Parts: sequence; structure tokens; C-alpha cells
Amino acid sequence: MNKNELVTSVNQNITKLDSIVFDLLEKLMNITIETNEKFNLTAIKEEDKFRELMIYDSLLPLRYFDLDGKSVLDVGTGAGFPGLPLAISTRGNITLLDSTNKKIGHICSIIDEFGLKNAKAICARAEEYGRSNREQFDYVIARAVAPLNILAELCLPMVKVGGFFIAMKGSNGQEELDEANKAIEKLGGKVIAIHNDELPISKEARITIEIKKIKETNKKYPRDYKEIKVKPL
Ligand code: SAH
Repeated sequence: MNKNELVTSVNQNITKLDSIVFDLLEKLMNITIETNEKFNLTAIKEEDKFRELMIYDSLLPLRYFDLDGKSVLDVGTGAGFPGLPLAISTRGNITLLDSTNKKIGHICSIIDEFGLKNAKAICARAEEYGRSNREQFDYVIARAVAPLNILAELCLPMVKVGGFFIAMKGSNGQEELDEANKAIEKLGGKVIAIHNDELPISKEARITIEIKKIKETNKKYPRDYKEIKVKPL
């Protein structure tokens, strides 16, 4: 996907964005690919693929959710995806969370360089951060972090009642959801919608699972990661 194709497909399929925003997203791509040589931040190093799999894909939730003025947490953001493209493209207040220090260091320098006043990066494990930040966010979002039954326990405790947990999944999203229904309910969530999309060039499937927090999460969740992993809800 070249830059023009990115502009056209985002504006047609997702949301209308200013041309300045696309310039910033292009700059984000260049810096991430450059820094990748030092830090090994992402597996995707080729520009055309990066635009589709890292930028277009990160923006896909904007087709369904208006993040302006909302508090948004990106769990397991890695090199800053989807959090950085969302911070660049919206007026949402985006917190980017990852347990790897060097990734958070890299994100902090991008936030500085871009002057992103609506973004901050925190180095912590989600299950630990979740214990002291219960029911704090309008949206908690995650892409490529863990299977949904595990991810739900990491993410749902931090969603405000009335807010949303958005799981960005690939073609196995429906199967993951079948395994996670019980966990979602136990944690106070309710599946509202399953949004199906296709990436414009590669035609890979994307499934955006929209889960609403309908009641408070019991204080015993999230458990320690070992327990979550060994005995998912
Ligand atoms: N969202 C990124 C995914 C990066 S890979 C993207 O789509 O490109 C998954 C990331 O999740 C890794 O950077 C890893 O450090 C982080 N991660 C995994 N489990 C975590 C946890 N329990 N708390 C915080 N970060 C976690």
C-alpha cells in the first residue's frame, strides 16, 4: 500500500483525516522502521506492508468508535500500535502500556518529538497496573497481545462501567471469542458487536470485538499472570 492508497482507503473505509495527519503517520512509519534496526521493535519492516498492517490496521477501530475526548488505554502496545496512530489521528487521551522498558523508552521519545499532548507511555504489566487503575478508562484496546480469554482479564478490570473493551483480532477472532464468553461475563463484560473487516490489499480478515462493561469487575481480578495463564476464566 503506497501513501496515496493509504489516504484513499482510510478516508473511504475508516474515517476522514486531514492530510497533515497522514504526513505525521508517514513520519511515524519512517522513524519506527529506522529505530527498528537498533531495537527490533516490529517484524514488519517494509514500507508498503507497514502502511497496511501497522497504520491502516491500527486506525480500523475509528470506523466504529469516536475516541475524541475519551480516555483510552492501549494494553501491550509494543512499539506503539495501535496507540500512536490513534493518538496522532484523534483527540482521545491515549495511555500506552507495555511491560518492556526499551519499547516504552522508544515511545516516549516519539511522543516528545511529535509533541503529542494527548499521549503518555507507562512501563508496567497490565495485571499490576490494573489493580491500581480499576474502572478508569472509557476504552481499553489491545492488538496482538494474548488470546481473548486471557486478554479479557488483563483489560476489563480497567474499563469504566459503561465503557468498552475493544479486542482487535485476526481471522481466529470468532474462535477466541467462543473460548472467552464465560470469562467476559465473569469480569462484568457483555459482547455488543463483532465487526468484520478485510485489509484493502492483502485481504486479510480483521475482527474487532466490541465488549461493553455492564457491571463492576470483582476485586479478585486480575489475578497474577501465572494464574491467569494456567487457569483462564
Ligand atoms: N500491540 C502491539 C503488539 C506488540 S507484541 C502491536 O500490535 O504491534 C505484544 C506486546 O505485549 C509486547 O510488547 C509485550 O511486552 C506486551 N505484553 C504482553 N503481556 C503483557 C502484560 N501482561 N502487560 C503489559 N504488556 C504485555
